[in-house]
Amino acid sequence: KTTSLQKIKQLRSETKDQHSISLLANIENPFEVKTALSQSAEGVGLYRTEFIYVDHNHPDEETHYNAYASAARKLGNRSIVVRTLDLGADKDFGLFRTVEDNPFLGCRSLRLCFKHENVFRTQLRAILRASVHGNVAIMFPMVSSVEDIKKALDILSQVKEELHSQNIHFAPRIPIGIMIEIPSAAITCDLFVDYVDFFCIGTNDLVQYTLAVDRCNENVANYYKFAHPAIFRLIQHVIQVGNKHGVRVSICGEISKEMIIVLIGMGLKEFSLSPYSILEVKKMIRAITLQQTQKIAKRVLGLVHHDDVIRYLRKKIKNIE
Ligand code: PEP
Ligand code: MG
Repeated sequence: KTTSLQKIKQLRSETKDQHSISLLANIENPFEVKTALSQSAEGVGLYRTEFIYVDHNHPDEETHYNAYASAARKLGNRSIVVRTLDLGADKDFGLFRTVEDNPFLGCRSLRLCFKHENVFRTQLRAILRASVHGNVAIMFPMVSSVEDIKKALDILSQVKEELHSQNIHFAPRIPIGIMIEIPSAAITCDLFVDYVDFFCIGTNDLVQYTLAVDRCNENVANYYKFAHPAIFRLIQHVIQVGNKHGVRVSICGEISKEMIIVLIGMGLKEFSLSPYSILEVKKMIRAITLQQTQKIAKRVLGLVHHDDVIRYLRKKIKNIE
């Protein structure tokens, strides 16, 4: 019996044997919260804040604040993970343009925030102020080392101190997370567990940096392979470390339904997806048991070739649907 996607909206996101799997939404603008909720997202797992630069040249604190407060309010008690600016490389909106030979390996994201610390501080002030309107978490992108985390946390605590001295309120306990999207971070994630509350695996960049394939270059698109054993091993390591140390782990890169099955089988319980994939994914999750996903994951971890993984998963998916 097939259940329509409309009906799926009312149903829980859980496996056939009742293991809950959280499905959250990736958004780029506060108005997308409505779409996310209409697709039954449990919250926002990734708010890509840098898109504010598409509409505003150099957004001031109020512009940032209004966007975050509006998104947080619309979500009520549901959580929202606000990622700090991930500008540069594929998201260079022309404002901090520096000519570099390899922008993906250059001054992007957190590095750019450290270079333009006033821009970073302005954003952090705005996120902190917005935190009183909902259930806000802060996430730092492009972390490559413990030093990066320490530096970002140090700036955050200075900004908190500043708001405090100005009598400006913010939520007392704001969860802190980092993107795991650089191989050095994935390999050494055990060193981060004392600093953060959650890891969010960013497979778009993790695949790019692990396989040395520019995510935007069509000439090498055939080398961009999610189902590469290196990617599965890195992700598995991060899930295991997170689960062992009580650090929540989620994934927020663009991934296919087939891959989601494998990742559930590896122990992942939280996914942030583009809003319009949520119902399809929920439907698939409801049709499979945890044990089935574990068997599939085990089999996939033993395969060597990307194409064999894809072929095997397509066959499995057909049997589920
Ligand atoms: C990622 O890298 O997987 C990710 C979710 O972030 P972005 O696509 O914004 O770089
Ligand atoms: Mg990324």
